Amino acid sequence: MIHASSTLQDRIAALPIDPEFERRYRVLLELCRRNLPYLDEKILRHAFEFGHWAHRNDSRASGEPYFFHPIEVACIVAREISVDNVSIVAALLHDVVEDTPVTLDMIRAEFNEETRNLIDGLTKIEGVLESREIKQAENSRKLILSMASDVRVILIKFADRLHNMRTLKGLPQQKQWRIATETLDFFVPLAHRFGLFNIKSQLEDLSLKVLDQEKFKEITNGLDQKKAQRDRYIERFIQPIKAKLTEKHFQFDIKGRPKSIFSIYNKMKKQGKELDEIYDLFAIRITLQSIGEEGKADCWRVYSVLTDEYTPLPDRFRDFISNPKSNGYQSIHTTLLGPEGRKVEVQIRTREMDEIAERGLAAHWKYKEDAKYHKNRLTDTKNTEQGRRNRNNALIFEDQWYTWVRDMLETPSETATEFVKDFRLNLYEEEIQVFTPKGDMFTLPKDATPIDFAFHVHTEVGFHCIGAKVNHKIVPLSTKLKTADQIEIITSKKQTPNADWIKFVQTTKAKTRVKQYINEKRRKAIELGREVLEKKLNKLKIELTNQQLDRHSKSIGFTHISELYLSLGVNDIELDHVIKQIQKGIVQDEREQKNNEDKQRQHYENFVETAQEHGKSVLRIGGEVHNNMKIIYASCCNPIPGDEVFGLISLGNGMRIHRTSCKNAPEMFKNQSERIMDVEWGINQGTTFLVNLRVIGTDRVGMFNDISNVISKTLKINIRSIQVSAEEGFFDGRIVLDISDVNHLARLKHRLSQVEGVHEIHRFEG
Ligand code: MN
Repeated sequence: MIHASSTLQDRIAALPIDPEFERRYRVLLELCRRNLPYLDEKILRHAFEFGHWAHRNDSRASGEPYFFHPIEVACIVAREISVDNVSIVAALLHDVVEDTPVTLDMIRAEFNEETRNLIDGLTKIEGVLESREIKQAENSRKLILSMASDVRVILIKFADRLHNMRTLKGLPQQKQWRIATETLDFFVPLAHRFGLFNIKSQLEDLSLKVLDQEKFKEITNGLDQKKAQRDRYIERFIQPIKAKLTEKHFQFDIKGRPKSIFSIYNKMKKQGKELDEIYDLFAIRITLQSIGEEGKADCWRVYSVLTDEYTPLPDRFRDFISNPKSNGYQSIHTTLLGPEGRKVEVQIRTREMDEIAERGLAAHWKYKEDAKYHKNRLTDTKNTEQGRRNRNNALIFEDQWYTWVRDMLETPSETATEFVKDFRLNLYEEEIQVFTPKGDMFTLPKDATPIDFAFHVHTEVGFHCIGAKVNHKIVPLSTKLKTADQIEIITSKKQTPNADWIKFVQTTKAKTRVKQYINEKRRKAIELGREVLEKKLNKLKIELTNQQLDRHSKSIGFTHISELYLSLGVNDIELDHVIKQIQKGIVQDEREQKNNEDKQRQHYENFVETAQEHGKSVLRIGGEVHNNMKIIYASCCNPIPGDEVFGLISLGNGMRIHRTSCKNAPEMFKNQSERIMDVEWGINQGTTFLVNLRVIGTDRVGMFNDISNVISKTLKINIRSIQVSAEEGFFDGRIVLDISDVNHLARLKHRLSQVEGVHEIHRFEG
């Protein structure tokens, strides 16, 4: 190991590094020094040189060296996510296993287990899968499973995706569309769930640029044209507020806030409006320096100063400080009527809240890391109370996240496509806040129903939910709840989950629990049905294999034996009826089997008759042909061409041919040895003779074709007759052929034995 890695080190060291790589590396190093609480520069340098060496022969679609990409991804991680040292190393090496001969074992040897596992999570599944869609789903599933064990996987993946989206240009149009669509469908909602607002909004704008270039240009141009005008208005709006807040000694930052292109686009589409008509083009944000409880109180004081100056629109007010979103977002939202009666959207938050709003999970990670290294960059103070609180919040958030993922993975969907669909459904973008009769507040996804609420309260409440009151009125269980609804659940011990609930519940927890219950109930019914049927069959002394049972259940009209059991288990079908049908089936089977046997016997008898007739002309007695000798085949052993035989001269009655294996042979050799003649088949002398073969194997699609192709097409052998039965997965072919010599027969047997699924080839008897 040491030897192997030292030669690798030599090879890495021997590869010259272009100044452009060095320049980019210095940018990364600076970012890391500035943003990481702890940095191991030696390991970072090693990762840089290792990646540079691994990708030395690769280039991107744009033609530039491939390794520029991982460096840029690492820079994004350092700048926007800045979690820890290992993440930067993993970002630098995220493509080496997928795209170069470097293995995960090498990563473990050169770095450590943690780095290896991160890179494993970032490596796509290899191999050819059925379709691109399935492959994409399989990869998404792998990604979700990896981030369930280490959430940094997805943080690095976001950086990777962001850089790929920024550098789509060199790719074919079709591929650009596909990547942009996947970004909007999968990565954007995921970024939202983690509260990575900055990255989310960049991904959205970049996707839009690809998917609707015209609209994208229209909006950016429109915004540019009116920028000066808009800035002047915002300045006019801000002036009086700034003055008052300064007068009251707030430490704050106030500025106009550009709306993302994508959010404007969405609003135009949803509301069918032109660019000019969208009022929250005017948006500002006030960020306060104060922290903790003091900070919260300051937000409200600032709100009050604002509403003294301008009139608020009551229906646009949102308090995400008392009720944070489930991704941790906190802020006060309000819309005010500014000069000339124009609407201005305002956000008020502290710097801490702002950090979480922009970076979500990544900010939490940073707090945790900061606490680990006793730093507090955010507040620039050594306030340990604050540090402890940040760390606690981070742990709570992480814990909630892992609980959520664990809930998701409890009953994994069968196919990858379904899994990813379920997962995406759970990345709810919109949320509602509802209340218990006691006033406790719960956050649920949009369109959640009383059933979701019941399961959120407790699994038992969900299980026995029989009715619900929303704002004191009884409503159907499928009712969609709205923010501020007060919900009371009515339960009954006798009530159990209903399969229909799956159609309308929204939360993973409710869906999972209901599915589990239904599956369990189904499993029990199947078990019961199986017992009932088995008992009855035992009593009637009917013995059937599983395959036979399955066949009978199909002839009764079920797709599978378990469906029959289920019907019996829930009393959907009479046991007597099933038994009668099975008995009918057995009689029919027996008749068919007899028919089959008759046919096979007939087939064999025909063969023997023809073969023996044919055999007479090739028979050599003492090495010569005797056309005038009367030949009789002994009925005791019924020899056919190919058998080892001898002849017995019978007085005045020609010659009888016996097999050497005939049961009477010893007796004849002892008492009539003087009448025995050497006899053999003239098989090697240019004439053809009949051979019978039985081919046994596994039945599969195309088996018959493959066998007859080998015989007639490849070896050009004439098939006299062929009889095939395929039952319960077994293939049984009886074939009669014209063979010209023994070598020919040996070659045929060899070729047949190579046919996929063929197990046995031998001659058949009657
Ligand atoms: Mn990449």
